[in-house]
Amino acid sequence: MQKKTVKDIDVEGKRVLVRVDFNVPLDVNTGAISDDSRIRASLPTINYLVEHKAKVILCSHLGRPKGRVVEELRMAPVAQRLSQLIGLPVSIAPDCVGREVENKVKVLKEGDILFLENVRFHPEEEANDPHFAQELARLADIYVNDAFGTAHRAHASTVGVAKYLPAVAGFLMETELEAMGNLLSAPAHPFACVIGGAKVSDKMGLVQNMLKKLDILLIGGGMVATFLKAQGYEVGHSLVERDKLSLAKELLKEAEEWKVPFLLPIDVVVAKEIKAEAKTKVVSITDISPDSYIVDIGPQTIELFSNELRKCHTIMWNGPMGIYEIPQFAQGTRSLAKLLSAVNATTIIGGGSSAEIVQEMRLANKMTHVSTGGGASLRFLEGATLPGVEILPDKG
Ligand code: ADP
Ligand code: MG
Repeated sequence: MQKKTVKDIDVEGKRVLVRVDFNVPLDVNTGAISDDSRIRASLPTINYLVEHKAKVILCSHLGRPKGRVVEELRMAPVAQRLSQLIGLPVSIAPDCVGREVENKVKVLKEGDILFLENVRFHPEEEANDPHFAQELARLADIYVNDAFGTAHRAHASTVGVAKYLPAVAGFLMETELEAMGNLLSAPAHPFACVIGGAKVSDKMGLVQNMLKKLDILLIGGGMVATFLKAQGYEVGHSLVERDKLSLAKELLKEAEEWKVPFLLPIDVVVAKEIKAEAKTKVVSITDISPDSYIVDIGPQTIELFSNELRKCHTIMWNGPMGIYEIPQFAQGTRSLAKLLSAVNATTIIGGGSSAEIVQEMRLANKMTHVSTGGGASLRFLEGATLPGVEILPDKG
């Protein structure tokens, strides 16, 4: 069912509270915004509201201030970046609720943009406190949720406030739901999922839910060790989730029952240490020595995966193939990103790290969709309902 969007309501002259997810990564040393793709992703919604003469009130969280004011997590730099990107002035409120903010809202003119302070400076935000939600609601006539990346959290600014105002989805929310929704309901076949990342436990819900829908599953990343171990292979020092070994076996069996090829690497890159200057070696999965770590998928695996993926019409990728933060261990992940950017298929990238790599390699515009919500897209593809989505009314 499609959600009502900003196009389904009249916003002219109205005060419109827009929840965006501008929780952008900040450089640990300088505090500068290191990737502004989340801000860019909500520009269509903000532009539309400005063009249709709404008074735009933006609100977001940034980082994890845990309910108190943290100077480094003020929204000002984010508001400035937005202003640069959109080419319009963006004024900043001293807080996200209260008298002073209400006064700022009162003087807004049509097409003006006001950015509220970090909502997570208040503990009531994450507690989804109804009184706090009402205070937010008092600022506006209409609520727009464009924060797909936070939709899996039932907070005051994502769920609570929607009970007190007419609520609709923004364009980013709409795009994300469409891209992810198509994967669940109507993917073009053959449909492949490539799953990587750190742990089986993070992705088992995803694997389990997608198994019924896909034609082939390819596994890389840290979780490879648990699957190999479950099949009796030596995996050295690689992280094995011992309590997930039986689950790993079960998933392999389930895939067999669904007749879904479950591809694990055939060769891997190993190292004795996990650091930039470590010596690496490519070995078959049958030759992993007890004193080494699996740090990436190997070249034969890259070729095998590439050959399979080239046959597919839909590819969903979530999670890096190796410890990509260390350049020597990033080959598998980078090759995969490159391949996906060039195949003739619908390519959907979910997962925070995977999206980050694609952005960094400047391949995002060559993919069908790169999700702005790692956790949210994961939950969605697990088959869970997202509280921030559920609260928004359907069309018609
Ligand atoms: P995403 O954010 O894309 O969903 P995850 O958060 O699940 O991905 O996992 C990302 C992490 O997985 C990265 O920090 C990466 O270093 C780690 N990782 C990938 N391969 C391995 C491996 N072989 N051993 C240990 N960690 C790995
Ligand atoms: Mg992650």
